[in-house]
Amino acid sequence: MSIRTRFAPSPTGFLHVGGIRTALFGWLLARQNGGQFVLRIEDTDKVREVEGSEQHIIESLKWLGLDWDEGPDKGGDHHPYRQSERLGIYKEWGQKLIDSGRAYADPYTPAQLEEFRNKAKQEKRPFLFRDHRPESPPAWDGSQPLRFKSEPKAYQWHDEVMGQLSTGPEVVDDFILIKSDGYPTYNFAHIVDDQLMGITHVIRSQEFLSSTPKFLNLYDALGIEWPKFATLPFVMGPDGKKKLSKRDGAKDILDYRREGYLPEALVSFLATLGWNDGTTQEVFTRDELIQKFKLDHVQKSGARFDEQRLLWMNGQIIRGMSIDELYEKIEQSDKGYWGHGRDADADYKKAVLGLVQDRLKFFAELDQLSEPFFAEPDENSVKELLISPPDKHLKGVPAEELSRILESVISKLEQSDFSEDDIRNRLNELLAELDTKPGVLFPVIRIAITGKSSSPEIFGTLRLLGKDKSLASLHRASALLDS
Ligand code: GLU
Repeated sequence: MSIRTRFAPSPTGFLHVGGIRTALFGWLLARQNGGQFVLRIEDTDKVREVEGSEQHIIESLKWLGLDWDEGPDKGGDHHPYRQSERLGIYKEWGQKLIDSGRAYADPYTPAQLEEFRNKAKQEKRPFLFRDHRPESPPAWDGSQPLRFKSEPKAYQWHDEVMGQLSTGPEVVDDFILIKSDGYPTYNFAHIVDDQLMGITHVIRSQEFLSSTPKFLNLYDALGIEWPKFATLPFVMGPDGKKKLSKRDGAKDILDYRREGYLPEALVSFLATLGWNDGTTQEVFTRDELIQKFKLDHVQKSGARFDEQRLLWMNGQIIRGMSIDELYEKIEQSDKGYWGHGRDADADYKKAVLGLVQDRLKFFAELDQLSEPFFAEPDENSVKELLISPPDKHLKGVPAEELSRILESVISKLEQSDFSEDDIRNRLNELLAELDTKPGVLFPVIRIAITGKSSSPEIFGTLRLLGKDKSLASLHRASALLDS
């Protein structure tokens, strides 16, 4: 039997890491088994729907390279793939349940239900809908909710991630199948659709785990064989204590694209949020993931979201690229990451990349890191950094001393052919001659030629800036100290 998995987002806003990880695991399982991955849009909650979400979801999946075989934009044998276009199907299945005595029209108003709830609370017993089944429910005409008539029993089932699970009959209750607005609930629609779409593995987040016994009762009532379940633990916030929320960093996956993260890094990062291959490997290519991913290696407990790890991973992948490759990736995006360097020529930009590659963690940093190669150092910054330096080695070094150092650097470098080796040799000679520390000499040069307290390594930076520009900046800095 071929494996069929699905990603079934509700169009209620952007996709964040948790949602995408669910999609990724389903995609990996389908791809590694030559199966199919289905995209289904669960748009049955009209109140929570956010316009544009479906497009946003599709764009996010495409950016990450998680392609689907069937979906709303693609069609397929089981179309339509938007639940709002399948209302007739749910109605038919609802009718089947009425006919078999397993669903009833719910005659109660919200106020009446509230009363039942309060009463149960007063009497200190759990509230259950099934304790309030109407004796003779009205015929269902669609104006009342259609409610499932459960048959409480204990369940045992296997979850591909969580292992063996069991619950008692008390958790099985009646629930709404179709609301009075004609839309089905998630609880009903997903079971009908998974069945009709031939889904073999239901991979979803932990938030649905407690409802699973109710779902099992409905599968049984419909005479449907249970699919395999794989429940993914929550992605936890940075403190590891609670579910990741928008407040502590769950951002739109497309924000990462805007900031110049690589989809390869996101995919590897998401895959390793709660999964590993049993070794210490941390960065995986897409092909490696397809080969190695196993549901039973997914951790049962929530994985902590650590954006620093993503940054690190992105940096690792950037460092692993050839300069040409890196250059092309940056050029291909229309985001203007070069900023100050946007109009510079390709060879010069590649040389800059050669120097900043080690420090670049995501593309949005490129402008700030590469600025010194395209623009003169900002005089105010140079002055500020030399006169009240945050650098601990420079603190307390008198201005006259800094000025003397700069003058010596200028006369040394005036004689240089500005090859990297020659610059290195001369500055090392100067260290000995001046009897000063590298921790003083090099920061002074760096500040003078870049206007920043950190930059790529100094010899390469001087070489690439070239003799004229470097000397001009050194002269300017020296004059600033004297002014
Ligand atoms: N529509 C549900 C959600 O977005 C999908 C849950 C599932 O995968 O079954 O949370």
